Amino acid sequence: DNVQDCPPDVEQLGRATWTFLHTMAAYYPEVPSYEQQNSMKSFLSSFSKFYPCESCAEHFRDEMKNKPPKVESRWALGRWLCQMHNLVNESLGKDIFNCDKIDERWKDGPPDGRSDSLFKPLCKN
Ligand code: FAD
Repeated sequence: DNVQDCPPDVEQLGRATWTFLHTMAAYYPEVPSYEQQNSMKSFLSSFSKFYPCESCAEHFRDEMKNKPPKVESRWALGRWLCQMHNLVNESLGKDIFNCDKIDERWKDGPPDGRSDSLFKPLCKN
């Protein structure tokens, strides 16, 4: 009929983008080569120029100047990105995320073995 999908608003774009960025960081090499480290730096620099919410991108570039990306390991990149996301969360009055939980949230899922796991799905999308 006449209904079609709408372009994303700032919130939808944000959720989709954080999903991509945190997932990318979760699968970044544990021990990246020098070339991989440079590629990741270039990617993040370009990302901060072309992110299609201009004021978001501008804030992000400012924060990146204060806190340059950490690309020396999977652990370091994941932590850095979590901290950057937390700065945005803080500015929007959202909850601060516990950065010890990034693998659980973005890679491994919740631990198994809960007594109620047969009855309650452990996670959803
Ligand atoms: P989101 O913040 O989108 O988070 C999605 C999920 O990520 C959460 O449900 C949680 O499970 C997980 N999560 C939350 N915090 C962390 C963390 N620190 N580390 C790892 N995982 C986490 N919106 C604006 O209005 N103004 C801005 O200036 C702005 N800047 C942005 C800059 C960037 C680079 C991006 C990608 C988005 C920006 N946004 C901005 C959008 C905003 O961050 C949210 O995406 C949007 O408000 C939707 O929020 P949400 O509550 O659905 O969860």
